[in-house]
Amino acid sequence: MVEHHRIGQQFGNYRLERLLGRGGFAEVYIGIHLRLQRPAAIKILHTHLSEQESAAFQREAQIIAGLNHPHIVRVLDFDVQQGIPFLVMDYLPHGTLRQRHPRGERVPLPTVLSYVKEVAQALQYAHEHRLIHRDVKPENMLIGQRGEIVLSDFGIAAIAHNTTSRTAQEAVGTAPYMAPEQIQAQARAASDQYALGVVVYEWLAGERPFEGSFTEIFAKHLMVPPPPLHVKLPTLPKAVEQVIFRVLAKEPGERFSDITAFATALQEAIEDGADRETGDKEAIVSHNPPMPHALLPTTMLKTPSIQTPSVLNTEAVSSSGPTHIQGVHSTRVSVQPSKERPIEAVPEEKKPQSRKVLRRNVIIGAGIGIVAAGAGTAWWFLSPYSLDALIYRGHSWSVTAVAWSPDGKHIASATDAINGIHVWDAATSYHLFTYTGHSKTTDADPPLTSIAWSPDGKRIASGDDKTVHVWDAADGGHPFIYQQEG
Ligand code: ADP
Ligand code: MG
Repeated sequence: MVEHHRIGQQFGNYRLERLLGRGGFAEVYIGIHLRLQRPAAIKILHTHLSEQESAAFQREAQIIAGLNHPHIVRVLDFDVQQGIPFLVMDYLPHGTLRQRHPRGERVPLPTVLSYVKEVAQALQYAHEHRLIHRDVKPENMLIGQRGEIVLSDFGIAAIAHNTTSRTAQEAVGTAPYMAPEQIQAQARAASDQYALGVVVYEWLAGERPFEGSFTEIFAKHLMVPPPPLHVKLPTLPKAVEQVIFRVLAKEPGERFSDITAFATALQEAIEDGADRETGDKEAIVSHNPPMPHALLPTTMLKTPSIQTPSVLNTEAVSSSGPTHIQGVHSTRVSVQPSKERPIEAVPEEKKPQSRKVLRRNVIIGAGIGIVAAGAGTAWWFLSPYSLDALIYRGHSWSVTAVAWSPDGKHIASATDAINGIHVWDAATSYHLFTYTGHSKTTDADPPLTSIAWSPDGKRIASGDDKTVHVWDAADGGHPFIYQQEG
């Protein structure tokens, strides 16, 4: 795309003057009204709508334009021009909270609280009008005339999502803030609370709870508790961390009843912390206990006693390290190429143990153990089942990703071959179905590198370096596809 290629063009009553910025699914320009000569921000979506889609866009934009709140950016107009949807908004010249606090900067707790209170008012108002923001992040927190925080892009993610073809999704810019249920296309008001929780975590810690590749971030939102905050911030009041971890609960029902309750709880926790001696040295137990049967990528864990692929992300390993997996006892089995019989259990000791074999290892422990697969992708699991070492022989190629269902009854696995993701019954080794949605059609296409089951066991997220698919674990149906830009 040519830089600034729309300057000089006319959208509605506005002539585009200057590019303000570009996000995952739109460009924002300063436009000048042809007659009033007043500036406005013109948001032009990267999409081309059919007539039917235009009607849907108009309906949704109308709802957004109906919002009227001091902490929400006003939508002045919208339309579809030659298939291109655009919105006209108030232009706020003082930048965003992302610009004020660049990535990596830590923000003092009182400042964080003041932001949360303002943003929460805007979100509470919208939620009461049955509108979910879906894209809460510092880039969408603009700074108003009097220094107040004004939230932009209400519901725009949903509009772009509904009207953009499935293969060009907008989710990537927002992946670091997306609630688990939103990743599974089940966004609700509590998803905005979660996203705000991620922002708060990022402001306090100077880093987001879940970093890594696009695919890893999705998988971690679905499966991994956030790393504790008190390790980085020993003076943070314990109650404040507890509030943030409640907001970051995987289950929307475990979060605060609404966003105002979150803001109030945060304020009270800060006041309590100030009353007492701050810096309580007692370890804080995360509000999210490790899910009993969860799969945790080893990229998140210290694994001193177990051989893991050498390409693990060492930064992630050192930045976190839940202790609940200590004492893990694992046996190891290998996935071997086999054409004849789809699946077969073979004792571990018969298998070669060279380093090269590591890449196709599936390590299964008794009760608690590890499933490791592929270069850099390895999954811990805590399984209620005491499995004998099994070798799943369905694949004729190297296994690149493997995951257990939360109830321990199923296994999903992918290979570097082109034939998709296989879902098996763990007890009987019966092959249930193959998900073939990923477009790996030649050996040159990137292999599937991760698979994660949603905590409720209903959906599976699978990804290569560029795309994440979220689909029904029962039959591979209803896939949602998120694609990384560029
Ligand atoms: P993102 O929110 O992901 O950055 P957008 O396309 O929504 O992507 O916006 C791009 C940039 O344009 C924003 O980061 C912000 O700096 C700027 N911007 C958006 N809306 C406005 C506005 N109403 N007034 C001033 N600047 C804006
Ligand atoms: Mg935006």
